[in-house]
Amino acid sequence: MADYDLAIIGGGLNGVSVARDAAGRGLRVILIEQGDLGGAASAAGGRLIQGDLSVLERRAFRRTRTALAERDVWMRIAPHLVRPAHFVIPAHSDERPPWLLRLGLFLYDHLAPSGSLPRSATIDITHHPIGDALQRPFGTAFGYSDCLVDDSRLVVTTAIDAAERGAVIRTGARCVRADRSDIWRLVVIDRGHRQVITARSLANASGAWTASVAETVLRMPPPRTAAVKLGQIIVRRLFDTDNVYVLQNADRRLVFASPYQRDFTMIGTVVRSFVGDPAAVAMAADEVAYLCDAANRYFRERIGTSDVIRSVAGVNLVTGRPGKRFAREGTVMFDARRRKAPLLTIFGGDVTMARLRAERAVSRLLPFYPMSRTWTGQAVLPGGDFPKERFEIEVEDARERWKFLTADQALRLVSAYGSRLHQVLGEAREKSDLGPSFGPDLTGAEVRYFMAREWARFPDDVLWRRSKLGLTIGPADRERLAAFMAEQPVIP
Ligand SMILES: Cc1cc2nc3c(=O)[nH]c(=O)nc-3n(C[C@H](O)[C@H](O)[C@H](O)COP(=O)(O)OP(=O)(O)OC[C@H]3O[C@@H](n4cnc5c(N)ncnc54)[C@H](O)[C@@H]3O)c2cc1C
Repeated sequence: MADYDLAIIGGGLNGVSVARDAAGRGLRVILIEQGDLGGAASAAGGRLIQGDLSVLERRAFRRTRTALAERDVWMRIAPHLVRPAHFVIPAHSDERPPWLLRLGLFLYDHLAPSGSLPRSATIDITHHPIGDALQRPFGTAFGYSDCLVDDSRLVVTTAIDAAERGAVIRTGARCVRADRSDIWRLVVIDRGHRQVITARSLANASGAWTASVAETVLRMPPPRTAAVKLGQIIVRRLFDTDNVYVLQNADRRLVFASPYQRDFTMIGTVVRSFVGDPAAVAMAADEVAYLCDAANRYFRERIGTSDVIRSVAGVNLVTGRPGKRFAREGTVMFDARRRKAPLLTIFGGDVTMARLRAERAVSRLLPFYPMSRTWTGQAVLPGGDFPKERFEIEVEDARERWKFLTADQALRLVSAYGSRLHQVLGEAREKSDLGPSFGPDLTGAEVRYFMAREWARFPDDVLWRRSKLGLTIGPADRERLAAFMAEQPVIP
């Protein structure tokens, strides 16, 4: 008998979503990730959970409706990680005419499940805080609702749920070979040790590596794919409101400028075709300049490439020819042959559709296993067991219980852990009860929690994926953090 029903290669959003779905449907699951969970494309996203207005322009109404329904599912199952946000499109005289924007937003409102979020509106921004950050000619904007997500915490929280439902999650473990007979026999290098794992079926969810894993690890013909690089930049805060600005660029693409970690603004996304090693992806100077120029068409405060504090880029695959638009559904392929163990291949797509994509992928295994019915749309993710309207009350409750927290700290912590915050802060009465501090916000208690419960092993896991506190921590604190982490017990 095989060790597992399903082995998954890749711990990005697609991999962990498959693990969560399959474990909850009663399969014995193992997930193998060569680096950190969400260490590649899944932590490099634009953080949008959306129906996608630009899809409407291509008249993909059914897709928009499905994505907007999924947006509601996310708000219900992860109200701490997926937060409603107000988006504004400043009307630009050279771009889409106001009637077209109004029509698009009217459709957007009507394709969304009723009452889920506030409807769109035309806003006179001449004397409105929304207009304060913009250059003078902008007098009108169109407001609508969508959501922002903490992408890397969504990955790790999904993995926690999968693990609590029985999935084994292995990070720092690379699958180097998979032989197929009536079962799969995987060779895995786990922190330097060679191991053999058997499974009745395999999911290749290795993101940008999907084709090379197919070719070199599974030794099968790779799917026909093209790689796309997506990138965004982080600069100092360009505006004082919580709105997400949607900037119509001269090439007709929409560029988003969103509030990021209180003191910063994230601007994205630039999409380019990509050739090379996905592990060495970085934004090129002209891509950074493209995003700065897009922002400079709108905001009063001008930015240049030297103002960029950090850039994030990731690679994912699309099926078909290079240059094809980023398909939000992603791709699910299924290969089942006589006397051969099944193979699922899942890659690309956006965050919004990830849960549904995984559900559809795992359902392909139905003829092979007795499985319980689909469930992930109803069950909340860890920490998400409160209605989205209660979020602010959860933040207030946290401040009441842990009186030493500032308003910003409480907001960050509830956004990250939701109702499970007590697992991190415990019975602490003052900040010093949480152990050493690394920079203004990060404490030893949080780092220990990341290591014991969230598979964090290195400072980058903590600073850029379990949190985004890398933006506010200096080199000396980073060194102290590395030393602190090295002293902690190794989690097997
Ligand atoms: C820059 C960027 C911006 C994006 N913005 C958005 C957005 O705003 N909204 C949205 O909805 N979507 C967005 N997306 C899309 C979305 O984030 C990704 O497509 C999604 O996260 C799916 O990722 P994945 O799991 O397929 O791949 P990845 O996250 O790349 O995960 C694949 C994993 O497989 C692992 N792996 C590879 N080979 C092996 C092996 N041999 N053994 C073990 N592990 C292996 C890798 O280490 C990696 O962690 C964006 C994507 C990018 C790149």
